[in-house]
Amino acid sequence: MPETVVEKPLQKYCFHGQHSKPVEGFRTLPGSKQRRQVCADCYKKILAERKARAR
Ligand SMILES: [Zn+2]
Repeated sequence: MPETVVEKPLQKYCFHGQHSKPVEGFRTLPGSKQRRQVCADCYKKILAERKARAR
């Protein structure tokens, strides 16, 4: 296999933001059948949106 793309091992693809972020900050979204892991930034955004809708 030619190494055309070198992926950093500590980067993970964020499901929500569609970007790669450090795997350390990743969290699994609660309340869904599918396990969706998102980065810390998107996790905060998603929870904030859910709270806003929950009124
Ligand atoms: Zn993200």
